[in-house]
Amino acid sequence: MRIDGRTKLAGLVGWPIDRTLSPAMHNAAYEALGLNWAYLPFPVQDQRGLAAFVEAVRALPFVGFNVTMPHKQAILALCDEVAMFAQMADAVNTVHCVDGTLVGYNTDGRGLVDALRVETGFDPAGKRAAVIGAGGAAGAAVVGLILAKAASITLVNRSVERAEAVVDRMRPYLRGAAAEAVPLDAGAREAIETADLIVNATPVGMVEGDGSPVPPEWLHEGQVICDMIYQRPETELMRVGRAAGATVVGGLPMLVEQGALAIEIWSGASQVNVPRDVMRRAAEDSLSRHTGEREA
Ligand code: NAP
Repeated sequence: MRIDGRTKLAGLVGWPIDRTLSPAMHNAAYEALGLNWAYLPFPVQDQRGLAAFVEAVRALPFVGFNVTMPHKQAILALCDEVAMFAQMADAVNTVHCVDGTLVGYNTDGRGLVDALRVETGFDPAGKRAAVIGAGGAAGAAVVGLILAKAASITLVNRSVERAEAVVDRMRPYLRGAAAEAVPLDAGAREAIETADLIVNATPVGMVEGDGSPVPPEWLHEGQVICDMIYQRPETELMRVGRAAGATVVGGLPMLVEQGALAIEIWSGASQVNVPRDVMRRAAEDSLSRHTGEREA
């Protein structure tokens, strides 16, 4: 990697990010594209730290930065402009620095839809989707599915009030799609059983020993199941979904797509052909290094 007086900066702000795959994934892409950029982790714990980080960004040669938990919502108020899809999701995961102005985007929703198309050939248009969760990732998934013209979206969440709030926020943008909120209990059975696509947007499955967020008997052949978790090669939801005959995909392809979309934004949209295969390999290598460290 070349670092010199003209190197531009990018990075990830969040906490904890000691096991992030993004620096490996981004720096491999910059190298392949011949971009004189460097992507660094910025571990920032609280909102005061986030505000100080944003001030520093304004003074330094940043092309942009990614934002992860717990700052995806707090960053909204610190951006000068927020793109429509990020407003809909009420979460920003990508900030573009343009002549001292910070513009917030959300690439998670499109990242999810693009990953589904690439990995499984699934097109949400006219299909029924169930999204488990009601946080930033679930909101972004709903936005992606609305834009991809899903026929119906059911948000299934442990705290149903939070899912209802997301559905209410999305109402003005639904473009004919049906949307409802249901609690994550036995009452969610119909929504899960009749869904063509099930997306897990909760952290359930991230830790070894975690179960599936929904009972295995609700899953069946013909469904596509996407678990957004990328820290494990196979979560329990993926395992039981596969055993039930469903097509399953983990969170790594979505991570790569949302990162590739960020590079497109920072470099002027479609002017670059972002090497997603290079990013995927770098992310997988980084993940196996982390897994090796954990097991050592
Ligand atoms: P978040 O804002 O903290 O939301 C978490 C959601 O999960 C909430 O709806 C919460 O329900 C639910 N939840 C948490 N623990 C649960 C449990 N034990 N049982 C049932 N539901 C539970 O998090 P987020 O930012 O949306 O991220 C969610 C997941 O998506 C994380 O694992 C993250 O790593 C992943 N993600 C992946 C990608 C990717 O590129 N692959 C991108 C973004 C996020 P309550 O509302 O009831 O608390």
